[in-house]
Amino acid sequence: MEKRYYQKDIETMEPEALRSLQEQKLQKQVRHVWEHVPYYRALMEKKGVTPDDIRGLDDLRKLPFLSKADLRETYPYGMLAVPLSDCVRIQSTSGTTGKRVIAYYTQHDIDLWEECCARAIVAAGGTKEDVVQVCYGYGLFTGGSGLHGGSHKVGSLTLPMSSGNTERQIQFMMDLKATILCCTPSYAAYIGETLKEKGYKPEDNQLKAGIFGAEPWTEEMRRDIERSLGIKAYDIYGLTETSGPGVAFECEEQNGMHINEDHFIAEIIDPDTGEVLPDGEKGELVFTSLDKEAFPLLRYRTRDICVLTREKCPCGRTHVRMSKPMGRSDDMLIIRGVNVFPSQIETVLLSEGYAPNYRIEVDRVNNSDTLEVYVELTPEQFTDTVSGVTAMERKLASAIKTVLGVNPVVHLVAPKTIERSEGKAKRVIDRRNLHD
Ligand code: ADP
Ligand code: ZN
Repeated sequence: MEKRYYQKDIETMEPEALRSLQEQKLQKQVRHVWEHVPYYRALMEKKGVTPDDIRGLDDLRKLPFLSKADLRETYPYGMLAVPLSDCVRIQSTSGTTGKRVIAYYTQHDIDLWEECCARAIVAAGGTKEDVVQVCYGYGLFTGGSGLHGGSHKVGSLTLPMSSGNTERQIQFMMDLKATILCCTPSYAAYIGETLKEKGYKPEDNQLKAGIFGAEPWTEEMRRDIERSLGIKAYDIYGLTETSGPGVAFECEEQNGMHINEDHFIAEIIDPDTGEVLPDGEKGELVFTSLDKEAFPLLRYRTRDICVLTREKCPCGRTHVRMSKPMGRSDDMLIIRGVNVFPSQIETVLLSEGYAPNYRIEVDRVNNSDTLEVYVELTPEQFTDTVSGVTAMERKLASAIKTVLGVNPVVHLVAPKTIERSEGKAKRVIDRRNLHD
């Protein structure tokens, strides 16, 4: 297959050259922050570091971390590093885990963000001949505008659908012959399900690829979506604090996401001690943005747990790859002392032949944690016999127990009884917090 890149020289840059580019940019960026963000300067002073101490990547670990708590504390403009009049845009997080934080962008910041998204679209096979249907939410959420801007940069015909109104999504997808679909994986699964209900087969649409992200999803979910839409499904990762989607994206190998290292330095740390871990070890992802002007976060803790690899990728890109995040450190449920990620449950459900429509409920009864998993039956699986359902519930509960080491109660429920998601799916209800 012909190799496809948006910015070949950068995406395939020799590792030594890339490293020296990062070091050059890092020195400049640390000085920029030191001079313009008093909040971070104070953190540096507290650690006894000045910009002169930061000469290379090995010095990075001397810098203090930033976390979402810092952004909440400095809300709204405490991290601003340019005059506000130089900013052209504000976006905000989805607020999945609490109060929203905002990010601000100069035109230069928007351009580099959109270029990152353009790299992702081209890596997924996008060209100016493509019709890109963007059904991430538009507005304050970064999903819509990021992919939209990237699609423009590639020169593709862009359909700014935003999320929701699935009937209209499908009508436009068919009538305008969309070839690339961009949305959350949970919404892609819902669109696939709706197409099937309408009697469409996977080959009836013109889609060839999907670029799905903004929430954790498993390999099993990927295969499910690829089958139902007849496409190749690519992962894309990002967070508002580092611009938005496009910080990392999958190439045709679909084996980890290349982090745009000319713009971001990635580190993996032990979330408990803050110690930097070597490549290949699982830990919390930390980003330093090298080129952002308005909101230039240094050593920002994402709380996303993943692994980095520098193994050579057959696609020719040299930038480090991150594994699919298992979820955030704060998505992890501790149930009867056992660490459980919702994605582990998803893996079991899909490999046991269920559709990705489920809800996890955790509670505490008589001082003991309870785990209930509600899973929707597909119309084909639906049976009226109570004994049939009970047997299936038992089998699924035991499959989950094998993987998690925790005994769940499984409830199989009728088709269409679990709410579908048009944006980021909310699959976990943890009632224990309510009792605290
Ligand atoms: P919020 O933190 O309020 O959800 P964002 O909309 O900025 O705000 O979402 C960023 C977060 O979404 C990331 O930190 C990560 O947890 C999650 N995320 C984004 N892309 C992916 C992906 N491809 N896989 C797993 N999680 C993702
Ligand atoms: Zn690659």
